[in-house]
Amino acid sequence: MIIDLSMPVNEQTVVFPGDAKPVFEQAGTLETVGFVDHVIHINNHLGTHMDAPGHMLGKDKLLSEYSVDRFVCQATCIDARGKDLLTADLLSDVELKPGEAILFYTGAGDNYTQQSYASDYPKIDLGLANLLVKKGIKMVGVDMISFDHDEPYPIHKALLDNDVLLIENLINLKAVVGKRFRLHALPIKLDLHAAPARVVAEL
Ligand SMILES: [Zn+2]
Repeated sequence: MIIDLSMPVNEQTVVFPGDAKPVFEQAGTLETVGFVDHVIHINNHLGTHMDAPGHMLGKDKLLSEYSVDRFVCQATCIDARGKDLLTADLLSDVELKPGEAILFYTGAGDNYTQQSYASDYPKIDLGLANLLVKKGIKMVGVDMISFDHDEPYPIHKALLDNDVLLIENLINLKAVVGKRFRLHALPIKLDLHAAPARVVAEL
């Protein structure tokens, strides 16, 4: 079974505070040119997307330069509902293998269509980020608009500085919470440090 963990992208998709709102502008119409197409203006962190180290740390490597092997691996989704702060003890009963991915289901993503989604989400403790690095986790995903709330973005930096790729704005994690599955998190091959991604779980 394949489960879609990706957010729909449209002009109503909730953006990170301060980011430009998405605009879809119709270019061609059947009447004018015989086909329908659009010019889309979106932040590259809109909707379900992946962050690479250059997003925060001034590193040169582009997301498009990663091998696609990096985007497909075994994953576990941890139940992190009902918490204001996600801490390292969430991992105490979880078998973590180097090279795998971890997703955290906080419940924030259940309200992804509401404006409150942009601000109503838990914080992540630095101890949890450091433990994920120590365990050799290579991708971390959340059903939240960001891994941090504001500057200096310590959680992003702790993970990205160790080449852990980040996935933000996941949805439907309720369908995979507590499970192990194969994660396919494929960003568009943009020559940038982040890109929208189609993310699915294969159970
Ligand atoms: Zn991002």
